[in-house]
Parts: sequence; C-alpha cells; structure tokens
Amino acid sequence: SVAVVLFTSDLRLHDHPVLRAALRDADEVVPLFVRDDAVHRAGFDAPNRLAFLADCLADLDAGLRDRGGRLIVRRGGSAREVKRVVEQTGADSVHIAAGVSGYAAQREERIREALAGTGCELRVHDAVVTALAPGRVVPTGGKDHFAVFTPYFRRWEAEGVRGTLAAPRAVRVPDGVSGDALPDRNAVEHVSPGLARGGEEAGRKLVTSWLHGPMADYEDGHDDLAGDATSRLSPHLHFGTVSAAELANRAREKGGPGGEAFVRQLAWRDFHHQVLAARPDASWSDYRPRQDRWRSDEDEVEAWKSGRTGYPLVDAAMRQLAHEGWMHNRGRMLAASFLTKTLYVDWRVGARHFLDLLVDGDVANNQLNWQWVAGTGTDTRPNRVLNPVIQGKRFDPDGAYVRRWVPELAEVEGSAIHEPWKLEGLDRAGVDYPDPVVDLAEARSRFERARGLD
Ligand code: FAD
Repeated sequence: SVAVVLFTSDLRLHDHPVLRAALRDADEVVPLFVRDDAVHRAGFDAPNRLAFLADCLADLDAGLRDRGGRLIVRRGGSAREVKRVVEQTGADSVHIAAGVSGYAAQREERIREALAGTGCELRVHDAVVTALAPGRVVPTGGKDHFAVFTPYFRRWEAEGVRGTLAAPRAVRVPDGVSGDALPDRNAVEHVSPGLARGGEEAGRKLVTSWLHGPMADYEDGHDDLAGDATSRLSPHLHFGTVSAAELANRAREKGGPGGEAFVRQLAWRDFHHQVLAARPDASWSDYRPRQDRWRSDEDEVEAWKSGRTGYPLVDAAMRQLAHEGWMHNRGRMLAASFLTKTLYVDWRVGARHFLDLLVDGDVANNQLNWQWVAGTGTDTRPNRVLNPVIQGKRFDPDGAYVRRWVPELAEVEGSAIHEPWKLEGLDRAGVDYPDPVVDLAEARSRFERARGLD
C-alpha cells in the first residue's frame, strides 16, 4: 500500500508523527511538498522565507535520499497536487500535520473535498507544529481557548509534552512519481545579506550547541541586546526543521533556570497558536476590538521602516531586521511599541512589514505578538508604552547593540548614544544622524488622549 505525506510546516525527519504514522500504515510513502499558489497570492512567500525554505527542502531531500527515498516537490494548489499523486500511485491514505491558521484550515478542507469518493482517507496529526496540540488544554467554564498566558502555562506544564520519536531508518518511495526541480536559494532576489541557513541539519546543530552552552545563561541574558544570547531557533521552529516537542523535552532534560525559562518561551509559542486556532480571524482583525483611530503618516512610517526615526535603539532594531531577516525579541517589542503607541500607527502596518522581512514570520506569533504590543490582543497591560531611551539604558547600557547597527553613532561613548540629540556643538555636528521624528512626551500625551487615559 501507498501513503502520501504532505509536508507543510514540519520539514524534518526526526520526531515526525506524520511520517511515522504513514510508514506504519503503508509499505511505500510519497513525501510531497507543494509550493502552494495560495501562499504566493497572499504575499506570504517573502524572499527571506523563500530562501530559507529552499535550504530546508534541499536538506529534507538529502535526508530522504540517505534513507533510500526522495522528496517530491510540486507547484500549484495543494489539494489538486495531492489528488494527482493519489491518482498516480493508488495511495489509500494522505497524512498531514494539523495547522492553526485560516489558510491551513482551508487547505485541509480542500484536500478533504478533493479526496471525497476516491477511497483515500485524509489523516490529520496533532502536536506536530506545536509541542502541545491547540485545544488540548482549555479553560474551565466553556471557553475554547486561553486568553491569558499564566493559567495556560500552568495547564501546559501539567499536561506535559508528548515523547520524542526517532527518525525513520528507511523510506521507500514508489516508482514513477515525478516532481519539479527543487527551488534554488541563489535564484531568490532581495534576500537579506545576513540571512541564516535553513534545513534540519543546520537546525539540529544549532539545538545541540544551544542546549550544551548558552541556554544555561538564558534566564539572565535573554534581554541583553548586545549579548545576542537567545537561541535564534525561531526560523527552524517556524519551518519545523526543529520539532517544538523534541526541543521542549531536551531543554527540560538539561534543566536549570535557563532550561526552565526557555521552555516557558516555547509555551508562549504554543499559546499564540492556540489563540489563532480558536480565532483565525485574529490574523488581521483586532482580537479585542478597540475604537482606535490610528494615524497614518507615510513619512513617519517610512522613517520607522528604514531605521531613521532618530531613536537609536528603534533604528538599530529595524536595521537588524533588514540585514538579517531576524530581530531580537526586545527589539521587536520596542519597534512595535514605537510604531503603534508612540507614532500611533495601526499594528497591521507594522505586522505586514515584519512579515515581508522576517525569516520566522509566522501568522500566529507575528500577528498575535503585534496585537499584544498594540493593546488589541492578549496583553493584560494594553496601555503600556515602551520608552526607547529607558529601554536603551536598561537593555543596551553601554550602547554596543546600537553601535553595531547604527555606525553613524559609533563614536558616541557610553549610554549617551541613546540620546544623540543631547550631544552638543561639534559632537552633534559630527554625527550624520536624523533628529527624532517625534517628541516622546508629546507622543505619549497624544496616545493617552486617544485612549481616553488623560
Ligand atoms: P528565544 O528567546 O530563544 O525563544 C525560543 C523560542 O520560543 C523562539 O524561537 C520562539 O519560537 C518562542 N518564543 C519566544 N518568545 C516568544 C513570543 N513572545 N511569542 C511566541 N513565541 C515566542 N516569533 C516568531 O517566531 N515569528 C514571528 O513572526 C514573530 N513576530 C514577533 C513580532 C513582535 C512584534 C514581537 C514582539 C515578537 C514576535 N515574535 C515572533 C516572538 C519573538 O520575538 C521571537 O520568537 C524570538 O525573538 C525569536 O528569537 P529566538 O528564537 O532567539 O528566541
């Protein structure tokens, strides 16, 4: 018998419940990846993610070839391509990981419709993309998801993450199934120069070095911008080259305060996924509708996007994003607070820009974190405004992070770098750096008036 495995956000061979189930059910398996036109139409195939994806697919193909198989890549509609493969091979089951977005739900529905009447069964597997399946824990009182992280985390811990599965030793692919050429990373244009490498092999190496080294200092170091002491595993978690469940199990085994703090962040990822699974509309609509009358000022938005707001920490973060396709979490929080609270611009504008550049750009994590910062999401302090100067002095005390990304300010010493407008005379004249786009105190009063807090 033949089974089809449709790979989506799970581009790995280790700890893969979908592949495992297919190999148990069938003698031969078709490992299929469809470059779905719908993703392209939604503008979701940003260059950085496309380049990283090319690495992931090449590596998955290599891993399958080591086991006697290969990856079939097709272009088109997922449902149509799945059906074609089923017709070509006579497959009697199709296996896929459960997704959480509206797009994933629609894809599943279309595949189900396409398979109707073919005798081929669709099997959807949980806890593949997330460590704990969305909906596995729900609050008491009839609600279908948690809107607050702490009680969610308590239940997440009590429930526990499923055990880790070994990678298969062999994968037999039926003859005669053809695919397109693998996408070529080098053919993708407008890729950030400092983009990380994708693929399961790169992801697993990063996990091992993380668990045996820097994770020990994660609790104290995760907010140190210049120290860059977070795992940088987010793109691998996004593409599923690293399994969230396996990572949580291994981090917990390693233990210590660093391990515990890190596992908590993995639960944050699951938290946002369970919100989106229950409320797929929250991808672009306010999770908690507010009456915000957002401002639109193209020059200010442009200054924000290009890292020229005149606030060094905001600009450093935005330039890191452009250069690497990745940004430190503290930078993301500040950049998002600056756009939505200080400039009072709609969070959707910022979320779109992040999705255009982030290699880990993710509907669940990006949209819901933006809403969390903007005060339309699950944050319990919706009117908190982060001050870029205070944040700078706290999380980049001697300015090393700013100096790395804003070379115009490299000569400014110590924490004075966070307030370049205060430099005097020749010092200021020698620095080719913009004045602040907005006065922080005025912006704060505007925000408070707009939210009725004055
Ligand atoms: P680590 O600190 O090493 O954390 C480990 C993992 O935990 C991360 O890889 C991530 O999967 C998860 N995690 C950590 N913090 C969060 C969080 N706040 N919410 C959800 N998961 C978390 N993360 C994305 O993966 N994709 C996005 O598109 C994304 N957009 C964001 C937008 C904004 C405005 C903000 C404030 C945060 C966003 N995040 C996003 C969350 C977080 O900033 C990144 O996951 C983190 O910076 C990735 O770096 P890391 O892998 O080194 O994280």
